[in-house]
Amino acid sequence: MNKAVFLDRDGVLNHEMGTYVWEPEKFVVIEGVAESLARLKAAGYYLIVVTNQAGIARGLYSATDVQACHAKLQAAVGGLIDALYYAPGHPSVSESLRRKPDSLMLEQARARFHLDAARCWLVGDRLRDIAAGHRIGVRGILVGPDEADGYQPHVADLRAATDLILAGG
Ligand SMILES: [Mg+2]
Repeated sequence: MNKAVFLDRDGVLNHEMGTYVWEPEKFVVIEGVAESLARLKAAGYYLIVVTNQAGIARGLYSATDVQACHAKLQAAVGGLIDALYYAPGHPSVSESLRRKPDSLMLEQARARFHLDAARCWLVGDRLRDIAAGHRIGVRGILVGPDEADGYQPHVADLRAATDLILAGG
């Protein structure tokens, strides 16, 4: 059985713009992310992005746009990410168990990579990210400025979350 760090995208890997981000030129990877991912990979973690992309269901952009951003992300981090899952649905259009706080994206990755959920982590900047992890028994670390009802552990960014994970929690 393997271990992984599940990564929310916007606000964890790239700057949260307060709106949907689908144009590669507006998709800006946060400083230090490549280094953090390299440290986690060296410690034996698979790196798996799980991102809600409801803008697809709402007709704002396409899967091709999402893939262009993910190509930019992979280029910025030296191709260290093992898989990128996105949930295209939105409750106003169609129900989907992929969309966080539901956990289908994580369950798919768990099966594909033979993951032991108890050895995995999720890093997200919203409580719905944390909730998706908890549904399958994955511990969550909240990052960023959102107070999120006082959830703990809560640290500044992926760099600090990486320190926490590598310290053994
Ligand atoms: Mg986010």
